[in-house]
Amino acid sequence: MNCYACGSDRTRPSRTVHGITIFGCDDCRLFWVPDIPIRQVNEYYADGYFNLKDSVSGYRDYLAEERLHRKNSRILLKAALRCFQSRGKRRVLDVGCAYGFLLDEARKMGLEGHGVELSEKAALYARDALHLDVRRGTLHAQGFPEAHFDMIFVVGTLEHLTDPLRELEEIARLLRPDGVLVITTINTEGLLPFFSWKPPEHLYYFSARNLAMLLEKSSLGILSVRTHWSYYRVTDLLYRMRQFFSARVQDPATKLLGRTKPGGCYLKIPTNEMRVIARRKT
Ligand SMILES: [Zn+2]
Repeated sequence: MNCYACGSDRTRPSRTVHGITIFGCDDCRLFWVPDIPIRQVNEYYADGYFNLKDSVSGYRDYLAEERLHRKNSRILLKAALRCFQSRGKRRVLDVGCAYGFLLDEARKMGLEGHGVELSEKAALYARDALHLDVRRGTLHAQGFPEAHFDMIFVVGTLEHLTDPLRELEEIARLLRPDGVLVITTINTEGLLPFFSWKPPEHLYYFSARNLAMLLEKSSLGILSVRTHWSYYRVTDLLYRMRQFFSARVQDPATKLLGRTKPGGCYLKIPTNEMRVIARRKT
């Protein structure tokens, strides 16, 4: 088995989780799931994904955390806008846009938003409740024209894909020459290298180094890599920490935290994710 990122043959099965084997590369330290039936992945994103009340995978209740997702979207939009020297109407694509909150925030900033989402329920919400151009399905299926977008966002999405390189190649095609790509994904060698192994949700576990290799192969060059700071609800933070450290044992305190109502206090904190901004190579 050759490494998906660097091509090395110094790879080996690293661990098996939920019956799925994750491979590791001794050279570039990529961890990935080389072989998973696409059907198994699609079934995973059936409509329960954004509403998994007692699970560490997926989202506990994405819609109820609307305010939080909007706050975090604004951080990313502002970071992308800083890459441009002039203001103007820019066209945004959000790949894996969920309920469309980033696109709605983009619209409030005078940007034109388009989205792609696999979950039917989320895509319908974005379209019917927020009146956004969100299409259900894969990015490739949309057939967007070449050099069509000024800003492309892949937020917490790349690690879910079966073939991220193919997706990055399509993104490079869709990006205007001066456009920017913003990726957030877990950094296994970042400031906070704590994360859960959770296939079939996460199929790739990148570091800045091996993600750079994939971007390079897609004719994309990195402008910046930094620790991704984002807002968390304090009670949700405690819930996630308890789940991580108690190895998913459902003790009464974790259950109680899981039931707390959205709202309350938010903290902006460094996360285990990196925020990578890249541009098409000329
Ligand atoms: Zn490798």
